[in-house]
Amino acid sequence: MTNLVTSVQTVASDHPDEPAVVYEDTEITYGELWAQTGQFAAALREAGAEPGDRVAVYLPNLPQFVVAFHGALRAGCVVVPMNPQYKSREISHLLSDSGAETVVALADLVPFVEEVRDDTDVETLVTVGGEADAGTPFREFLTAGDDGVAERADDDVAVQPYTSGTTGQPKGVQLTHHNLASNASQSIDIIPDGIGPGDRQLGVLPLFHIYGMTVVMNATLFGGGAYYPVPEWDAQTALSLVEDAELTLMHGVPAMYNDVINQPNAEDFDLSSLRLCGVGGSGIPVEVLRRFEELYPVKIYEGYGLTETSPITHFNSPNWGRRVGSIGKPLEGVHARVVTGDFEEVAPVAEGPVDEDAVDTDEITGELVVSGPNVMKGYSGLPEANREAFTEADGQKWFHTGDLGYHDEDGYFYVVDRKKHMINTAGYNVYPREVEELLFEHEAVADAAVVGIPDDRRGETVKAFVVPTPDADVTADEIRQYCLDSMAEYKHPREVEFVDELPRTTTGKVKKHELVEE
Ligand code: ATP
Repeated sequence: MTNLVTSVQTVASDHPDEPAVVYEDTEITYGELWAQTGQFAAALREAGAEPGDRVAVYLPNLPQFVVAFHGALRAGCVVVPMNPQYKSREISHLLSDSGAETVVALADLVPFVEEVRDDTDVETLVTVGGEADAGTPFREFLTAGDDGVAERADDDVAVQPYTSGTTGQPKGVQLTHHNLASNASQSIDIIPDGIGPGDRQLGVLPLFHIYGMTVVMNATLFGGGAYYPVPEWDAQTALSLVEDAELTLMHGVPAMYNDVINQPNAEDFDLSSLRLCGVGGSGIPVEVLRRFEELYPVKIYEGYGLTETSPITHFNSPNWGRRVGSIGKPLEGVHARVVTGDFEEVAPVAEGPVDEDAVDTDEITGELVVSGPNVMKGYSGLPEANREAFTEADGQKWFHTGDLGYHDEDGYFYVVDRKKHMINTAGYNVYPREVEELLFEHEAVADAAVVGIPDDRRGETVKAFVVPTPDADVTADEIRQYCLDSMAEYKHPREVEFVDELPRTTTGKVKKHELVEE
């Protein structure tokens, strides 16, 4: 049986009384979780849903998300997760493109669904919490009965998340049962001794995003640990939860770790129960990692991946050692290469990380391409995008990540930056990440982002947006000079602007296009 959900079934039969999901005062055991997913699957079937039908889940991190997700899989349906920050205009495309007939929505978000409902195929609306004028409350929707597990093939789609669509319309990413099962088990393998009963995982990463869905929720539940969902990121809440519930595992995006170290009372929290912290989604500035590890007795291990790869392809696991600043090594079964435009493989760097004085980075970096059991089936209904995303070579189908990087002789990979973020100033290539790393080393900088802004003479000019620390006494010119003292003139930010905060996506990525457009 290929259905992804059988992994939960196995844990439920081995450890029915262990906690699966813990939220505020509610604890759901594996036995209860399995019963509820069966009731949800039975209700879907009664409402007319058939295997392959799309079920949109429009919720923050709550226990009902976990039940709806695994219940829909049990019925053989395809989960379409939707960012709970989206409003009607944004969900309209996701609902019509996916053809979802069922939506499970937070009561507060129901008006957004209602606004666009007539233009979609939505027939069944299930609501969670609060007062909703339309739909069936979640608890009433559940129908008695163990509904078995729908038979699914390896290649059947299980989840269809959408890219964030920073350029053009969001694309539906078809992830199969095999893709997701592979990556959940890979996510368990990167943790020393795996994940098992007794592990307690912080759930601050949003479940609609693949990082929170696979690496956090599925890996925890498939391993037999307890998942602690947190609906909204707040550093104080997260730190208190880790301390009070003695959580053992945490994954977050760099912005979360940066937020933690900038809390005035950061030192007061006891995080000694944590045995591993993971980070990904964007590169963590080395300085942020270093300061976090000065504060707490736990190490941060960086990984890398994309929605299209379910998501993790690389990780710095304690199982094979970490290299700070690198994204780690490819996971078991994942093949990774750095290639040039005509798909020639770039030779490994002779001695570890790039030495800027010795080599020209432009010659050795290339695009990172990957293949493996976790690489998506393809974008839904977009043949042109699929042609661009894949290259067949040496008997494998390689997925183009759109990221530039290199690898060292020991097989550790380094992401220099996203291809589309590279700045071309007067003919020189500047990788914003390198300038950002330097800015984070300045004591007056709490957060920073670097972009290329259009410039008549140079094509683009390097510009830094800086959030100063609360007690900072520094001028834009001093920051500019500080960079100029440490890097080539063409790389340093000619413009520095102080801002109160940077515009970020729900998954902590800086919305660079907004900074460029300002
Ligand atoms: P879109 O592709 O629509 O812009 P997105 O950026 O939110 O959306 P994701 O799949 O969430 O898409 O992010 C994947 C990207 O995140 C990678 O291509 C890479 O640029 C970046 N990324 C992830 N982990 C790391 C890391 N450790 N270091 C640097 N970049 C990373």
